[in-house]
Amino acid sequence: MASAAESSGGATATRRVLMFPLPFQGHLNPMLQLADVLHARGLRVTIFHAAFNAPDPERYPAGYRFVPVGAGVPTADLVPTGSNADFAGAVLRINERLQAPFQDSLRAVLEEDEEGAAVCLVLDSNLRGMQVVADRLGVPTLVLRTAGAACLVAFMAFPALCDKGLLPPQDHSQLNMPLDDLQPLRVRDMVFSTTSPHETISTCLECIVESVRCSSGVIFSTFCDLEDVELQKVNDSVGVPVYAIGPLHKISSGPQSSLLAPDRTCLDWLDKQEDESVLFVSFGSLASMDKEELMETALGLANSRIPFLWVIRHDLLHGSEKVGLPDGFEEAVQGTGMVVSWAPQQEVLGHQAVGGFWTHNGWNSTLESISEGVPMLCRPHFADQMINARYVQEVWKIGFELEGKLERGEIERNVRNLLCQEVGGEMRRRAKDLKDKATRCIKKGGSSQTRVDLLVNFITSLPSSI
Ligand code: UDP
Repeated sequence: MASAAESSGGATATRRVLMFPLPFQGHLNPMLQLADVLHARGLRVTIFHAAFNAPDPERYPAGYRFVPVGAGVPTADLVPTGSNADFAGAVLRINERLQAPFQDSLRAVLEEDEEGAAVCLVLDSNLRGMQVVADRLGVPTLVLRTAGAACLVAFMAFPALCDKGLLPPQDHSQLNMPLDDLQPLRVRDMVFSTTSPHETISTCLECIVESVRCSSGVIFSTFCDLEDVELQKVNDSVGVPVYAIGPLHKISSGPQSSLLAPDRTCLDWLDKQEDESVLFVSFGSLASMDKEELMETALGLANSRIPFLWVIRHDLLHGSEKVGLPDGFEEAVQGTGMVVSWAPQQEVLGHQAVGGFWTHNGWNSTLESISEGVPMLCRPHFADQMINARYVQEVWKIGFELEGKLERGEIERNVRNLLCQEVGGEMRRRAKDLKDKATRCIKKGGSSQTRVDLLVNFITSLPSSI
């Protein structure tokens, strides 16, 4: 049988797209999903990747090639762990440290040109340093934003908010100030991190915006019905084509790019629960909490008497503290609760037993929840998470934020509101409506599928001699 590449004819069969994801779970996933979408359209794919948090080449079919960059480079300060890590600083250091090795690797790949002509590089918008290298070697670039369009709109406004003296906030009273041009955002939603120095954050966000403006096009894992207004704003100001082709995890059917092994036994456990009865609790791959927050969370969940599936990553606690659950917790939740160290999250959210998602609102988690029509309890930690949570609550009205100090009584009340009360039911109905829209946009003729066509046409029209 002819492969997609062969059957699609000469135009794409020998074309090769180069890709470079940022080496963090929430960035690897959408880039590798995009790789699968392009591969399925007959393009070959070369993935450059950092030597740490590397994807597993064994999981990928022929037509993929993996090129490690910067083996031997010191990585201890390149991998942020926990909500209080210097994420922005790590991104800048990755750019600095991998730039020269990437130049060597890219040059070598272009010279070999064995497996079809490389036509462009798709890179994570956090890798401005690699884009500079590509420019130098005459390789056109496309940029993948792994967050929503609203986030880019907010990042573009960041310098003006600094000039106005709103960022960084000078005192507590400024935090709830609404930002008229960025409704429904408030000053507090723009505080990217409380641990990275302001200068570092400014430079990091500036580089992101610059990478978009210096590209031949920006790709988003979002969809028009979700972020119509924000996509229009991006379109009006970046000066390059905008491809909203999400939810990418729904368009892609490729291999899982999980860095940790998911515990699939939780799916059997979910099979035994009633429809829409379970709260799924997961804070993504980086966010962390302290011992007291962990205790309050455990007791709030247990006291709610709502069935729950909770992901407690090995590094969920700040620093190197060992996770310890309250005495008697396991007995108290026997039968009603399950704890795993990593879940097959997309399948969990798609399971009929799941009725709510307590999330940190990373963009992937937010979009995965929307795609399955699951309403959210929001507990954002840093980066774009506050922006996403705000949209969940104020724009899409498919969840609400759990603000302030984590306290067992508040947790219990909010969890019950989401799962058992009418307010949660209304949110679930709206979430299901968005799920229907997400499903339609990836069908033939749908907005995202049409934009995938445009993107593939653009890539295949690029000259094959770089
Ligand atoms: N994820 C997973 N299993 C888990 C927790 C998370 O597969 O137990 C995946 C999740 O599906 C998502 C990614 O990890 O695709 C996390 O990305 P997100 O943008 O939500 O958050 P980040 O980890 O970047 O903070």
